Amino acid sequence: MRKVNRIVIHCTGAKQSQTVESIKVFWKSSLGWNNPGYHRIISSDGTVTELAAPEQIANGVAGYNANSYHISWIGGQNGIDNRTIEQKCVLRQEVLRAKEMFPTAIIVGHRDLSPDLNGDGVISPNEWTKECPSFEVKEWLKQQNI
Ligand SMILES: [Zn+2]
Repeated sequence: MRKVNRIVIHCTGAKQSQTVESIKVFWKSSLGWNNPGYHRIISSDGTVTELAAPEQIANGVAGYNANSYHISWIGGQNGIDNRTIEQKCVLRQEVLRAKEMFPTAIIVGHRDLSPDLNGDGVISPNEWTKECPSFEVKEWLKQQNI
């Protein structure tokens, strides 16, 4: 098994009606990727689709993929947290599941990996390269007792 030290949470940043199939076509045809963008993805009804096995690499965040495990939810267009109740519930289960596989990994949102432009040790909203995953992961983990 490869070394995973980071569990990264994403959103697709698009409509919640997006299908997993259309996302896969986009990666392959539009971006020319051979690997999927995430390991697991959660549809609006809470269905989880595995796109890559844990030991495989997914293209979640350039520069971090070798040691990351990526989980995404469908939605979050324009940086709005519109997770359904099912997605919130399943995302919690998915994070716990990943944490069991990789107990020493830290859990972050994609935007938390943006460059710290002013070097103050905090990734502020003005430093985010994108809104993904459209909610504050650190606060959510606290609320979830994770
Ligand atoms: Zn992302």
